[in-house]
Amino acid sequence: MRLGLFGGTFDPVHLGHLRSAEEVKEEYALDEVSFVPCGVPPHRSGRPGAAPQHRLEMVRLAVADRPGLGVSDIEVARPGASYSIDTVRHFLTTLGPGDDLFLILGLDAFLLIGSWKDWRELLSLAHVIVTSRPGFGDELPYEKIPVVVREAFCYHAFRFEGPVRSGFRNELGKEILFKRLTDVSVSASAIRELLGKGKSIRGLVPSEVQRYVEDQNLYNEPPES
Ligand code: ATP
Repeated sequence: MRLGLFGGTFDPVHLGHLRSAEEVKEEYALDEVSFVPCGVPPHRSGRPGAAPQHRLEMVRLAVADRPGLGVSDIEVARPGASYSIDTVRHFLTTLGPGDDLFLILGLDAFLLIGSWKDWRELLSLAHVIVTSRPGFGDELPYEKIPVVVREAFCYHAFRFEGPVRSGFRNELGKEILFKRLTDVSVSASAIRELLGKGKSIRGLVPSEVQRYVEDQNLYNEPPES
């Protein structure tokens, strides 16, 4: 079993997230990519977000007809702040000894990993697949890896189902890999902004998600002056 975990606020989930999950799943022959919406979203500026149950439901709708994509309510159901380390520990209890866990992180999120709770342990328990994001560069150069992480990982080239690839590996054999995605320039904050101005988001999210947003009247607060 090769399981990918894709964490985020998904406020709301959009086509950039879905394309990312599909490309990573295919590239690394993952059996499943499970979206894990966080319970308590990190502090952020801009438009207010939707409640955790709404974000979870929108992901459910988005992955319903997409084989190999799933959703977990583990972080929404867990009280308090959502930490990836707790989620990874949980999923490891569901896997067998030969199974592999992959954390999928956009480059913007990965660059902050040195500040995450128990990040050293996290990187000893799961592989990390860092994905490109429009506006954040096309590759993962060594100098972009946070210094604290660099100390624990070495560059290496390897072969996995096809061409030689490169990545970083620690002494436990856990890897940090980089996947250049097809650019899909969508962000949840831009979607919230459009909705706040009463504009359409058709084509930016799956139609089921668009309907849900409309039915539940989400993100409809007018823009701040
Ligand atoms: P916001 O605009 O509110 O910051 P977001 O669109 O970045 O939201 P998140 O839920 O924060 O959505 O993202 C979850 C993960 O998906 C992050 O790792 C992020 O880098 C990645 N991601 C988000 N949008 C894209 C995109 N358009 N292409 C590739 N990756 C993306």
